[in-house]
Amino acid sequence: MLSPVKLLQTQKIVCIEEATQKATVPSTHMKADIIRIQQKIGVTADGIIGPRTVQALTRELGITPATVPSWPTQAEVRKGTSCFGRPGNESVLTSIVPPYPLFYDGKALRSIRVHELVAPHVLAVLREVLEHYGQDEIHRLGLDLYGGSYNYRASTGGSSLSMHAWGIALDFSPTANAYKTKAPRASLSHRDCRAWWEIWESHGAVSLGRSRDYDWMHVQFARLS
Ligand SMILES: [Zn+2]
Repeated sequence: MLSPVKLLQTQKIVCIEEATQKATVPSTHMKADIIRIQQKIGVTADGIIGPRTVQALTRELGITPATVPSWPTQAEVRKGTSCFGRPGNESVLTSIVPPYPLFYDGKALRSIRVHELVAPHVLAVLREVLEHYGQDEIHRLGLDLYGGSYNYRASTGGSSLSMHAWGIALDFSPTANAYKTKAPRASLSHRDCRAWWEIWESHGAVSLGRSRDYDWMHVQFARLS
């Protein structure tokens, strides 16, 4: 016989597993269960299992969460001695095939090219994004509009090299998230994109929009300080 606490935990785990499998369209009954659990653990009770709910649940259940990678700081990257090496070294770039169509300037891309050390994380992020949102919602939110990664250039409005010069930064939905466009005008600052950013952040990536409210298109695998 399981103790009441164990029984509750077992029920919750089953509920999480079922909910995760049906994340896009939870049944009414399941949604009510999820809302009750969310109310108990103190996250937004919207009936949708997003990254924040999963985080709170893992804490509640005492499950050790997967560790978030800690990437070098921008200053370390710019020295050229970090794990990412020197800028402009295309031999460390690798191509990944996105799990949903990405469009660059209206053209569908077969693959995108990023630094080999961040490639598994970019792929994992895109897979998790697909699982969380589904292709229709990805398209509605403009998360399939790609603005590029590797580019040997200075950062916008500065003289130091951009993290793009190492292939460790990516841009998305550039038109609706121009460099100086702030929240709430920047589309990626909207509430329904919160999970998008939480997924990137769970891989240690940093959003300039979320950190500094500019360049909302940009995400990078380097800490700001
Ligand atoms: Zn960028």
